[in-house]
This record gives sequence, C-alpha cells and structure tokens, in this order.
Amino acid sequence: MGRIHRLPQSVVNKIAAGEVIERPASAVKELVENAIDAGASRIDVVIERGGVDLIRVIDNGCGIAEDDLEAAVTSHATSKIADAEDLFHVQTLGFRGEALASIAEVSRLLVRSRTADGESGYEMAVQGGVRGPIVPCSAPVGTTVEVADLFFNTPVRRRFLRSTATEAAHVAEAVAKIALAHPRIHFTLYHGDKAVYALPPVERAADRIASLYGREVSDRLIEVASEDGPIKIHGFVGHPQLSRSNTRQQFLFVNGRPIRDRSLQHALSEAYRGLLTVGRQPVAFLYLEMPTDMVDVNVHPTKQEVRFLDGGRLYGQLLSTLRTRFLTSDLNTRVPMPEVADPHEAHDREKILEMRRRVVDWAKGAAPWLATGESSLSAGASLGRPNATDAADAVDLPIKEAISAGVERTPPDFEAWSRSDESGDGAEPFSSEALDVSEVGRPLGFLDGGQVGPPRQPKAIQVHNRYLIAESDEGVVVIDQHALHERILYEQLRRRAEEGPLESQQLLVPEPVDLSPAEAAAALDAAEILSQLGMRIEPFGGSTVLVLSRPVMLGRVPPSELLHIALEPLMAKDRGPGRADLMDKILHSMACRAAVKAGDRLTEEEITALLEQSRGVLDSHHCPHGRPTALIFSREQLDKHFKRV
Ligand code: ADP
Ligand code: MG
Repeated sequence: MGRIHRLPQSVVNKIAAGEVIERPASAVKELVENAIDAGASRIDVVIERGGVDLIRVIDNGCGIAEDDLEAAVTSHATSKIADAEDLFHVQTLGFRGEALASIAEVSRLLVRSRTADGESGYEMAVQGGVRGPIVPCSAPVGTTVEVADLFFNTPVRRRFLRSTATEAAHVAEAVAKIALAHPRIHFTLYHGDKAVYALPPVERAADRIASLYGREVSDRLIEVASEDGPIKIHGFVGHPQLSRSNTRQQFLFVNGRPIRDRSLQHALSEAYRGLLTVGRQPVAFLYLEMPTDMVDVNVHPTKQEVRFLDGGRLYGQLLSTLRTRFLTSDLNTRVPMPEVADPHEAHDREKILEMRRRVVDWAKGAAPWLATGESSLSAGASLGRPNATDAADAVDLPIKEAISAGVERTPPDFEAWSRSDESGDGAEPFSSEALDVSEVGRPLGFLDGGQVGPPRQPKAIQVHNRYLIAESDEGVVVIDQHALHERILYEQLRRRAEEGPLESQQLLVPEPVDLSPAEAAAALDAAEILSQLGMRIEPFGGSTVLVLSRPVMLGRVPPSELLHIALEPLMAKDRGPGRADLMDKILHSMACRAAVKAGDRLTEEEITALLEQSRGVLDSHHCPHGRPTALIFSREQLDKHFKRV
C-alpha cells in the first residue's frame, strides 16, 4: 500500500454513482422522485433501449432557476435540507443532493428547466461529469432531464446490464412503484414509441392499482385501515385466492416513499398464516403514514429501506390490523365442492345423480388434464396398462371411469379392509411408534409386483380426503394423494416433452394476458422454451403478452393460467440458467397445479385409476418436490407391533 491521498472529486462522484445508480431503473427512480419533490402533477418518462441509450423525464414542477442549475448537478448540493436536524424531518423523497451529480458522472446528461417567473428556460449539458455552459432556450415551466448513454465511461457497470427487455422491465417496475404511491399524479411511460403506462390522475389508490394491475388483481383486494396514535395504516391486501409465488407484488409505502421492510413483510405473511398454502405469498399494497420524526430515512444508499423508531409496535399494529380484518371477512375461497352423500343413506336418486355429475365436473376443472381428448378409450381396456405411452389418455382414466361408472358407484371397499385386520378389535393399527423411519418413502412395491395374468385390483380407502390407504403384498401403504398424482402427471408430461415439442393447439382467438413488466420480460425471454412446451407467445404492447397456442395435453387449463403457471419458475430467484432445468421446473409447476389436492374427495374410480397409473411411473415414491408420496408398513412390522411374532 502506498501513501494516503485524497481522491479527485470525479472519482468520489463515481463511487457515489456506483452506490446510487446501479442500472437505468435507478436513474429513472431518482429523476421521478425529483419531479415529485418539485410538486409536478404530470410526469412523462421515455426510455430508449431499456433506458441504456436514453432516459428522458419531463415534469411540470417548479423548475430550477438559472443560477441553481450548476448546484443541481453538484454532489451534496440540495434544496431539500439545510442542517443535520432536518434529516429527521425529511418531507421530500430526496435529501442527499447526490443523485443528479451521480448520474451526470456516468452519462451524458442534459437538464433543461424553467421556473414560473423565469424569463426563459435554461439548459446545461454535463458529459461524464464535465459541465458545459448554461444557455437560454425555450421551455415550458418545469424540468426535463435527459440521460443518454448511461455508463458510457464505466464499461464494467455497462457489462452488468441485462437484456433490453429486462432493463425496461426494471424501469417499468420503478415507475409503477412510485405511481402507486402517488395516484394523483399523472404518469406516462414510453419504451421507444411503445406506451407502457398511461396513468391518468385518480383520487383513490385502488384505481391506480386497477390501472396498473388490472381487474384480476383489483377485484380481489380487501381494504384495510387502522390508526394507532399518530400511525396510520391503510391500503389493500389480496384475498387468499390472489397469491403469488414471490413477494414482488407486496408494496409498502411510508409517507409516500416505496420501501422494503423485512419485519413488516414478516407481519404480512404471519397474518396470512393458514390462509395460503406453503410457498405462496400474499399480494399487498400498504400505505403507512406517520410523523417524519418516527422514521429514519437516511439508512440506505438508495433510500429503499428505512428505520422505524418503534418497529415492534408497527409490526404489532400491522399484524392485528390484518388479522382483525380477516376475522370479519368471508375468506372462504374454495370452489364449493358438493358433498357426495352416501348412496346407502340417500333416498333421492335424482339428487345423487346430480351430485355425481357435479363432482365429475368439478374434478374435470380441478384436475384439468384429466378430461382432455374425446377418445373412446374404455376404462377396462387400459386399467393396469403398465406403460401407458399416451399420457393424455392415461390421465384420462378416472373421469372416463367415473362417467362410465355413472351412479353405480360403490362406496370404498371398507369390507376388504377390515377383513385383513383379523383381530378385528378396532385398535388403531398405525401407531406411529411402530414406524421405522427407514421405511418412509419406499417405492410402492405392491404396484409392480410383476403378477401374471390380469392385474390385481388394488384396493384403497381415502381418509381425511387426502391419504389413500391400501393393502399391498408386503403390508400396508399410506399414500399422499396429491404427491402421488403430481408425480404421475409430471412423469407423463416429461416423457412426452422428451420426445420433442409438446403438441400444440392454436387458439382461435389469441389471448392477451396482462402481466407485470418483469413477468412480461421473463416470459418473452423464455418464449422459445415455452414453445417447446406447446405454448407460443408474443409481445403485445406494454407488459401484455399474447398467447397464441397452448399444449393439447393441457387443453382445459385457461391459457392465461398456463402462462402464470410457467411464470412461477421463470420468476423464481433461485432459477438456474439451464434450459433443461427451467423446462423441468415448468413441468413441475404444471403437474402440481393440475394434480388432485389434499382435501379433494376422490371417487373410488379415481382412486383406482390413480393407483393403476402409478405403475407406469418411474419414481412414484417421491413427488417432484421431493416429498415422499408413500409410507409403508410391512406385514412384519404390523405383526411385530401386534405381538403376533
Ligand atoms: P436531492 O433530490 O437529494 O436534493 P438531486 O441530486 O436529486 O438531490 O437534486 C439536486 C437538486 O436539484 C434538488 O435538491 C432540487 O433542488 C434540484 N432538482 C433536481 N431535479 C429537479 C426537478 N425535476 N425539478 C426541480 N428541481 C430539481
Ligand atoms: Mg433527488
């Protein structure tokens, strides 16, 4: 190491720029924040090539006076605070006075501005931190800032930039966040000549949410509000139906500033505990208002995090606000599933018939690929076919059977079951103490017993609407119905996909699907992979994506839902770069979505078909997520437990 020396200002600025300006979206964020601080009622943002070639932010705010122009692009020069005490009363979004200086250091910047009482406008260019002269120009009241060739003089930063679509998506997300916090401000965002957002001013945050995320989201929001002393919380949280695989649609604003906060995020997910399945995330738009001295905004380089004076109290307030609201709301989201009456008890035959039909319809909807093609495969002919090559037909079985079985449905075979329990004393045969954990997850040996002659009909009963209990040659198997079905569907889909692109079916009317900008970018980036899976998509302006075709195998799943299913792995943080890996993950998602769920009552025919299909499955003892699908109690274990040996 050499002697210590003071760094030249331009190096200092570049270091600051490195912290504040990471990508085009960070510059857009800073410029839009400045426009809001200037009291603008309209802010127009234009970007070219994801914001790398150009960012232009036009506002109708108070403007910058001629003799302030130079200070505006000087670091640590600000009109927003004067002394250290002010740091605890920050009313504006900016306060450090380093954004413009940072951006000017790493781009070709042009500021053009005019104040209400200025005789004309003035403009000034700064190239890589080197200021040009201030010259008069014609301009409306307000400020236009243009940022061209971002990172032209910091090639390393430039190399870190992602694809144009991805950078544009980040910009759109940044604008959306600020627009959500300020519904009364008119925002537009153009990428080239393509309109991404046109957001007219609205009174209510709900209307802004609707114009950004569509009715799919806004119709399923629950309004929340509470007040605890000086702290106000209001906003909207998603109905449990409206969940996501990540936290990207959780927005938190403190005094008009979009922030992230782990603790409050935790309160949010706590409030949803038990309402969402594991791994799903709620959607939320939460606005917190509190006196400025209760929050320290000066803790994060890009001001995306803050520190609360009393974080614990805030956590409690948010949690109880949501919990109280949920307690008084009707959150019953399940598609009501008709109870199938016990045929022996029911007297009204017509009623039973109708219920059966509804269950079958419901099952078709819930497990969409269960009822694809119209092939006239007879149930008997394929029962037990060990290596079903036609996956669509194979999964078709339960419904076909259910339909052909009609009302002549017999209740699960309790009789056969109790016969095998010779002692007949009704004692609980499955004491967990008897369980040897090494047996957990053993393959379903009973299903590939290699018998000669017609396959033995496996018998099983469903308990708690989620587990199937079956007799096997070796003993007794407890099966997780969702895990097994998911595995079966996944194997079938994968086998198909390995043979080549999944057969696709052109949509008569291509379906536009509104996505978030980041989702749209991810989907379009993966267009080729999706087309391998039978789903062709193309851009459709803004963050809308057009679905042109869908896989035949998934003929019953609405195209928009299919796209969302595929998006989950595409948007996952931990996604690997590999194409095969990605396809696999998408297949997993599809299988998971289409499989019967825990809680679904299955007909005997469906149970039988499920067990039969597991024969053709390579690895039926684990679901694609790695959870075991079956638990085996061997005859030996049972005998030992009941002291027969
Ligand atoms: P900060 O926002 O933290 O003050 P900036 O570097 O972003 O720092 O801006 C420096 C100063 O330039 C601001 O304090 C403000 O006075 C002025 N300024 C920047 N952008 C605008 C704008 N769009 N309209 C009016 N004034 C602006
Ligand atoms: Mg600023």
